[in-house]
Amino acid sequence: MVNRMRHNRSQRGSTRSHHALKGIALTKCPDCNNPVMRHQACSNCGKYRGKVIINLEKKAKVTKKATKKTEKKA
Ligand SMILES: [Zn+2]
Repeated sequence: MVNRMRHNRSQRGSTRSHHALKGIALTKCPDCNNPVMRHQACSNCGKYRGKVIINLEKKAKVTKKATKKTEKKA
């Protein structure tokens, strides 16, 4: 950066005033009204656009098995 490109404090501040992060855009799941990130399956019921994408019952069993294995190791 060349010295003549430098801004003073107020110019720098007014530029950075637009750099704040915005919150995540959440929508409601049409099936269970759970807040959901857009274009992602619902973490509560595992559905996306009315279809079951993630079988949560199966997944819960798998995670239980995995936790049991880790408990045995420890
Ligand atoms: Zn849902």
